[in-house]
Amino acid sequence: MAEESWDVIVAGGGSAGVAAACGAAQAGAKVLLVERSGFLGGAATLGHVLAWCGFYPQVAGAQPDPVVGGVGRQALETLADLGMEVAPYFSASGNWPIRLNAEATKLALDRVVGNSGARVMFHADLVRAHVSGGRIEAVELRDPRGVRTLSAAAFVEATGDAELAFAAGASACPLHGGPPQAASLPVRISGIAPGASMDKPVRAQALTAIDRRIGRAEVRADGGILTTLPGSPDLWWLAIDAETNGLDAEDLTAAEQDARALAWRAVAALRAIPGYEGAQVAATGPKIGLRESRHAASLAPLRETTLLEGARPDDTIALGGWPMEIIHAPGRAEYRRIGGDGIYGIPLGALRSADLSNLWLAGRCIGADPAAYASARVMGTAFATGQAAGVAAALATADAQRVRKALVRQGALL
Ligand SMILES: Cc1cc2nc3c(=O)[nH]c(=O)nc-3n(C[C@H](O)[C@H](O)[C@H](O)COP(=O)(O)OP(=O)(O)OC[C@H]3O[C@@H](n4cnc5c(N)ncnc54)[C@H](O)[C@@H]3O)c2cc1C
Repeated sequence: MAEESWDVIVAGGGSAGVAAACGAAQAGAKVLLVERSGFLGGAATLGHVLAWCGFYPQVAGAQPDPVVGGVGRQALETLADLGMEVAPYFSASGNWPIRLNAEATKLALDRVVGNSGARVMFHADLVRAHVSGGRIEAVELRDPRGVRTLSAAAFVEATGDAELAFAAGASACPLHGGPPQAASLPVRISGIAPGASMDKPVRAQALTAIDRRIGRAEVRADGGILTTLPGSPDLWWLAIDAETNGLDAEDLTAAEQDARALAWRAVAALRAIPGYEGAQVAATGPKIGLRESRHAASLAPLRETTLLEGARPDDTIALGGWPMEIIHAPGRAEYRRIGGDGIYGIPLGALRSADLSNLWLAGRCIGADPAAYASARVMGTAFATGQAAGVAAALATADAQRVRKALVRQGALL
């Protein structure tokens, strides 16, 4: 017997879940957002993935127009109100990411969801789902008080690892036969003197002094990505990759421990660079960054051909612009460009569970083939698919034109 009943329950408070909760609430639904940790932001705030990608397409030269509006835009405006720089920068890979301050991101997203009217429940772990007649009827949440059962008319899967879909017995879409994309342990480094070299070859040279591998973890031979952060003297370093299936505790433990040991060894090696003598590991985690783990099957997965053509189907409910960034193995990244004008459309069918009629997939959980997934997984795009999933769940409709109209009213870009 359910203790509370909602119009929409959103599982997971990353960028997709935040946008889903706001989108559903703005569409008039009574919404509960449940999050296992004590803050919003998902990989950005949990895993120190301190750059929102996908707000802008890959265009060289002048800063392009954004492809994500709506809740994503509200999040940027709230960060700007907190004094954070939110303009994108032109990265070495030829893209336009937005740097993040983790603490400001937590506060900004509290405000964005708070203003939407959706209710947030932290420290609530979704552990079980009750299914009947091809629909999820209720979910069980474990919080410090125990387990409680909540029902809803519709649910949004935004846990990243498709935990709700699998608790509900949804089928998996086929992975590419190989291991998932490599995980990484981003590191915030303190103590680097202002003006010290940020050049990759300089870091790569310093890293030749150490054995670059510990167990499952490897530091990138090219020195990785290093950038400044808004509102902080620390630098953000994305260079430690790790192999893990991301799903079982034993496997994750080995990846976390190896990556942590390697981060300390690698930061010590950087101290040979002039200006880096005081470099320290300032922060990692609380969780290693998982690019890929489990997928739920959708009715109409996003296909690589759509991205290669830069196509926007009639049932587009979100736009993507990030290239297909495939991390084949630690240290081996491949970028495939988006065709056309560098922008593609994500169809509503990619957000519809193949098995459960009232389950909507968002963010890292949408249906996509491996190459398309490598683009659509980024957080800017996750805001866009999340908002669309929330609106579709609130309206309880699979009519893409109705969802599009509501999204446009909410300021989403299509
Ligand atoms: C190392 C690394 C580097 C990356 N670099 C970038 C980058 O630079 N820029 C970029 O935009 N993207 C990057 N990505 C991709 C991006 O971080 C993810 O694809 C994105 O965060 C997906 O957003 P999401 O909201 O779907 O999921 P997540 O951000 O993973 O959020 C899921 C949320 O669900 C919660 N949750 C999970 N299970 C439960 C449960 N059972 N009950 C309650 N809550 C639950 C989690 O605590 C979490 O807060 C990177 C990823 C990794 C791993």
